[in-house]
Amino acid sequence: MKFQSHPPQKVLIIGSGIGGLSTGIILAKQGFEVTVLEKNHQPGGLTRSYTRKGIDCPVGVHYLGSLDKGQILRKFFDYLGVSAAVPVERMGRNGIIDRYIFGSHDDKIFDLPPGLEAYEENLRRTFPEEAAKINKIIEPIHQAAGQLHSLDLLYADVNDFSLLDQAQSFGTILDDLQCSPGLRSVLAVPSNWIGVPLSDCPAFYHNMALASYVSSAWRLKGTGIDMANAFARRLRELGGKIVTGAEIDRIMISSRLVTGVGLKSGEQLKATLIIGAVHPKVVLNMLPPGAVRPSYRQRISNLRDTHGVFAVQALINSNSHPERPYNIFKLDTDRRGNISDLQYYQIRRSGKKGVNLMSILTSGRDELWVPWLRTTSGRRGDGYRQAKENHARYLVKKAEKLFGSLKGLEIIDTYTPLTIRDWVNSPGGSAYGVLRSTGQMLASALLNRTSVKGLYLAGQNALAPGVIGTIMGSFSTVKLIIGPDSFKKDICLT
Ligand SMILES: Cc1cc2nc3c(=O)[nH]c(=O)nc-3n(C[C@H](O)[C@H](O)[C@H](O)COP(=O)(O)OP(=O)(O)OC[C@H]3O[C@@H](n4cnc5c(N)ncnc54)[C@H](O)[C@@H]3O)c2cc1C
Repeated sequence: MKFQSHPPQKVLIIGSGIGGLSTGIILAKQGFEVTVLEKNHQPGGLTRSYTRKGIDCPVGVHYLGSLDKGQILRKFFDYLGVSAAVPVERMGRNGIIDRYIFGSHDDKIFDLPPGLEAYEENLRRTFPEEAAKINKIIEPIHQAAGQLHSLDLLYADVNDFSLLDQAQSFGTILDDLQCSPGLRSVLAVPSNWIGVPLSDCPAFYHNMALASYVSSAWRLKGTGIDMANAFARRLRELGGKIVTGAEIDRIMISSRLVTGVGLKSGEQLKATLIIGAVHPKVVLNMLPPGAVRPSYRQRISNLRDTHGVFAVQALINSNSHPERPYNIFKLDTDRRGNISDLQYYQIRRSGKKGVNLMSILTSGRDELWVPWLRTTSGRRGDGYRQAKENHARYLVKKAEKLFGSLKGLEIIDTYTPLTIRDWVNSPGGSAYGVLRSTGQMLASALLNRTSVKGLYLAGQNALAPGVIGTIMGSFSTVKLIIGPDSFKKDICLT
């Protein structure tokens, strides 16, 4: 029995990232008449990869967590009906999913293995004097894994107050335990990687992020284009529509009720249910003055976002630099063990004989791109191209210290926070959207609801970022729309 009666209620979803597409699939399965509106010419947002010189280059999906049977993302994919259409391969078959390299040489290494027990064991082996502290740190991570995979966060009848115990910052917990700089630096990686400094990262957020990935780690067998297309195809199979090249610039409202959207082209589309699967600041700018209370406008406008990234995509010789079945993090730390700089490397087959693709991701360094802040992608000129090239060369030199000579390396693309800003409309080019920090825990809570009747938010800013966090946000937005009872009755994720 579906929530919808006849005729089906029309819903317009703004944005075809994994957030918009998954929300669309869930609602289409519930009998809604779904139309997804996308400003770009292809669906998928950050999920979608792109091609340079015939080589597929990833953007927002380098790995996926928790796709083993019974784990959270597998349950999501099975419900959405995309598991078979998004083939993946398991990372960590050689016992490593991430290699952390500290300092200027590769002499200080910590290997992150798959599985929480193995992770715990590795921590104990590396820091034998801190076993008691490790016990205290690991216990809540086990708890987070249990809550994650059992979908407590979506189905629990009452708010799960056990999470409040973990609202403290993870950095403060490590301070209280007086962890050594070495242990602190290892434990600091996940929060830094998701864009929240250790000292501001709520412990439950760190624990969920780590648990979701250590539980089991995967890479796409195909491309991000394939993944985006699989989601889009599934939505269409269920009767949903995706309109590309449709940039929305306003949401129409009458007596605090949504009535439709206006496209940049001037066209208008009517609906009494609208979901903005884009950043809340973008949705706010679409609303007419007076549509929401000044306090809401102020709260959303003042939200701080995670930083953007700079990326290099380069072809390297596959004989001297074979594919690595794990991610590599190069980390600079201060004397206390806090991370001051981070480079992420992935070396994967390119599909072209003799060469592999090395992707390097690192901090966005906003200050480098200030002269081009008011320009748009493709129209930034030679100075910008040169600045990107210089920064990419600097990063390649750094990479050579880890991987040895990269002679013959060919840079096939680079992107900056400005690229991401223009590609998916992410304010300031933020990679993971709203900063989920202890400092703005209240301001960033419950972002999927608004005070305008019929208007909801989805996407990575609704609940949490990453493929898992974003899809969890989609389910939680649908729960708001159809109500918790119908959600429990009609949406079975086992
Ligand atoms: C560099 C990078 C690496 C990442 N790596 C990983 C990873 O390895 N694993 C992982 O799980 N997560 C990763 N993430 C995070 C993950 O990609 C995101 O959390 C997720 O894809 C966000 O999906 P979304 O639907 O919220 O947003 P988006 O993918 O940004 O989708 C929003 C869509 O809305 C469209 N849009 C915007 N404005 C309008 C408008 N006015 N009208 C119509 N359409 C509009 C955009 O064009 C876009 O298609 C990474 C992110 C980045 C940036």
